[in-house]
Amino acid sequence: MAEQRQHIVMLPFMAQGHFIPFIALAGLIEQLKPHCAITIATTPLNVQHLRSSLPPTSSIHLAALPFSSSDHGLPPETENSASISQIDLLPRLMFASETLAPQFDLLLADLTDLHRLPPLFIISDMFTGWSIHIARARRIPHFSFTTSGGFGTSAFMSLWLHLPHRLTDADPFQVPGFSDRFCLRRSQMSHYMRVADGSDDWSVFLRRNIRISLGSDALICNTVEGIEPYGVDLLRNISGLPVLTVGSCRKTETTKLDSCLEWLESHRPASVLFVSFGSQNTIGASQMRALAEGLEASGVAFIWVVRPPYGFDMNSDFKSEWLPDGFEARMGEKKRGLVMRRWAPQVGILSHEATGGFLSHCGWNSVMESLSRGVPVIGWPVASEQFYNSMLMEQEMGVGVEMTRGVVGEIDGGKVERVVRMVMEGDTGREMRQRAARCRELIMAAQAEVDGEKKGSSVRAIDRVFEMAIAGSNDTSKN
Ligand code: UDP
Repeated sequence: MAEQRQHIVMLPFMAQGHFIPFIALAGLIEQLKPHCAITIATTPLNVQHLRSSLPPTSSIHLAALPFSSSDHGLPPETENSASISQIDLLPRLMFASETLAPQFDLLLADLTDLHRLPPLFIISDMFTGWSIHIARARRIPHFSFTTSGGFGTSAFMSLWLHLPHRLTDADPFQVPGFSDRFCLRRSQMSHYMRVADGSDDWSVFLRRNIRISLGSDALICNTVEGIEPYGVDLLRNISGLPVLTVGSCRKTETTKLDSCLEWLESHRPASVLFVSFGSQNTIGASQMRALAEGLEASGVAFIWVVRPPYGFDMNSDFKSEWLPDGFEARMGEKKRGLVMRRWAPQVGILSHEATGGFLSHCGWNSVMESLSRGVPVIGWPVASEQFYNSMLMEQEMGVGVEMTRGVVGEIDGGKVERVVRMVMEGDTGREMRQRAARCRELIMAAQAEVDGEKKGSSVRAIDRVFEMAIAGSNDTSKN
């Protein structure tokens, strides 16, 4: 039997874009509260995968919750949204994740026995809101971690909860809780949100889990208030909950940069554009050609992470025929462009001084990784809350400009060339880079671990989570 020791449990949703900030948050807590044991609970294959992403010295414990994807109409070994080849299958994974509840409850019981006291608190994903029922039954304080930023989470929540676009034909239309400055167009919604009516699978799962999450003790948000004060304020108003911001800067995986380090070293500072659409998105076939033509015409050096275009199996091999004839060979000459298949060490690339811009789908991790390195963003949002992240960067923060949106959005080589040159070579780009550099300072300051007044906001937020949990546990023990 282990000694009595403070411990916490974290429960991420099974998607790459959720695991990454959960691991970063766990790492921050590990560093700040070394005496507290941390357990991250997820399914067996995700445990294996996460193990390889934790440093060997990490004390974070990974607990496997038994799960069989084929019991839920999913292909075998499908435990992560990244292994789903068609977006239509995602709701099955979402509903399947809710069936983990009894196993999660058992895990809490086992950990309570092991440590001879219940977890101090649970940090759940907004998509695993169902865990709140278990937390309440066991009188454990419960926090919901929103893996996106304040503005993006607010828009996502308000849209799903109210489906305002179904109540009007207007385009743009108003979003409940948002100022008129941020009216949305229908093109700023994923297909499945555009057609949602409250009874479809997406609505049922998301509305249920968002609503339950609003019963949490507080929201922990993966942002820094200084970079988006309006967004964090909105989140407080829309959720009615305390919002604690814990945004930090993911460390660089220098060991994984080998594949492109030499290539980057051969370029001038801030001269390379990094192009990537995240861990689970891609663009349309004709858009892909337009992007290639525009990149070539711009004369700007680039690293582009390619995946099969929309409509093809995302996890199949990439075919050269999806790019213009001879494109890769021409770009290979004189190191003009590096085409990487499927995956690249993104944080390492963004951290390298040769990188001066990021053409991104605007997933929030990508946004934070880019801004924490002072790199401005060319937005090409394709799904989920990416549209609102892109809007925030262009309209509110002045660190981004949107190129186009969606997998069918209009784009031609000429527009790609113009926008790329504007950001990489023009005055507008220079100003965006200065504002991004300011974001970098704010994000670095947020995680500063200095005693007293200068303690960064993310460090103070983690202190606050512990204080709230201790106060909450004392309250419930009096009941
Ligand atoms: N990522 C990476 N290499 C790639 C693609 C993605 O390292 O080739 C990482 C990226 O650094 C980020 C995460 O995967 O941390 C993607 O998260 P994001 O929120 O940006 O987008 P999502 O994949 O969830 O849509």
